Amino acid sequence: MTETFYSQWRHAGSIALVRDASSGPPPERLLQALWQRQRLQRDALRTLDGRPVRVLHPGFLNHEAGPDFRGAVIQLENETPIRGAVEVDPVGADWHAHGHAVNPAFAKVILHVIWNGPAHTALPTLLLEPYLDSPWAELAGELAGHTQLPAEFAGQCRAPLAALAITEQNALLNQAATVRLRSKAKLMERHARRHGWDAALWHGLFRALGYKHNVWPMQHLAEQLPTLHALGATDTVGWQARLLGAAGLLTDELRGQTVAAQEWLQTLWHHWWREREALEAITLPRTAWRLGGLRPANHPIRRLVLLAHWLARGDLVGRLESWLPVDCSKTQLLATLIERLTVWPSPFWDWHWTFRSPRQKRRCSLLGASRVTDLAVNVILPWFHARCQAGRNQSELERVEARFQQWPSAQDNAVLKLARQRLFGEPRRLQGAAQQQGVLQVVLDFCDHAPATCEDCSFPGLVQSWPDQRGGKPDS
Ligand code: SF4
Repeated sequence: MTETFYSQWRHAGSIALVRDASSGPPPERLLQALWQRQRLQRDALRTLDGRPVRVLHPGFLNHEAGPDFRGAVIQLENETPIRGAVEVDPVGADWHAHGHAVNPAFAKVILHVIWNGPAHTALPTLLLEPYLDSPWAELAGELAGHTQLPAEFAGQCRAPLAALAITEQNALLNQAATVRLRSKAKLMERHARRHGWDAALWHGLFRALGYKHNVWPMQHLAEQLPTLHALGATDTVGWQARLLGAAGLLTDELRGQTVAAQEWLQTLWHHWWREREALEAITLPRTAWRLGGLRPANHPIRRLVLLAHWLARGDLVGRLESWLPVDCSKTQLLATLIERLTVWPSPFWDWHWTFRSPRQKRRCSLLGASRVTDLAVNVILPWFHARCQAGRNQSELERVEARFQQWPSAQDNAVLKLARQRLFGEPRRLQGAAQQQGVLQVVLDFCDHAPATCEDCSFPGLVQSWPDQRGGKPDS
């Protein structure tokens, strides 16, 4: 495979490859904006116990569960600066009232920031109200309208990147994306060497359908596939019972369920009671899953039902193998893969999101376009890439890389939004899934190894050397 400038940077040792007031206090959302934009008398800040505190970086707003800001850097008195999370609450008592004290996700909090009042934790605590840089009446109006990150969040690479022509930026991101594709393919190849190509594909599909919070229980089930297959062939309903049963997600509690759910559960149990004992040793406890805060369409039960359809049909690998050689335009890529992966009909799941949801007026698909894109970019194309590489099939390898580069954009997410702002500022549109993958690779290679202040990050220098080194070579 050809080396690109991006891949050479990685190999050159530039980065480590092993490897985010009125009567009462104002609303938390405004306090977060206040902290994020540091509208404070920054040189006068002291913690409640009187120690001077310098905020070297306020951290990045966390849109998920856990502390409000991650990656903050603060210095207390003359101590060495420390990096960690910051929690912003209206009052100190929120530390216990919101359960932070007993939540392991808050173990890395280095500073509790509150509007006013006494501290309720042994952590350094900073009050906001005494340090505002303007009267609150003025500030509140300004802060309420802010949705963008302040200019100080610009990464040190933003200026050198901005100095590149858009075609050069695109070329750089495409090269980083190819590095990412090849890394994923390498993992596939390693798995295939021990367990075979089909197992590597299923392993990837199960993990990807675990979607962020349920990757590990999904991987456990993928690892049990030989045991599940050993029970013999079965139909779609049988596979649903087998997977949901082994996942520990097949409830026997019928009370409170709709009539349709009760009937479907009884059908599944009719299969499961016969296999239950044989699978007892590999059956997961329900607590292995994170089920709270998920959109119904992302519920692991639906993902397992989709997998059950594919397993029962038994021709998934062949359907994918017949998809790769088909000549299709950029605009047909997604549709042709959706056609290979879609499953119909599913009498209960076509009309219910979960066991507990009422019948929907519109059909609920088990697989949407955005999930197909995730599977294509993270599993299917890397799997094909690894196979072509192992078989030294250069022409098919190029076809896989071309499909990867042409794939339409995946759904935006918090990591991408933040990285886009740090690297490019808004508005910067990423063209297709490959450029999104390229940005994620830069985050993995560089941002994840530098403090929020970008200190000592080699990426800006590398970007500055890009046009000279490139010497008129092709864009991708
Ligand atoms: S850490 Fe490096 S790559 Fe990330 S924003 Fe800062 S300068 Fe850019």
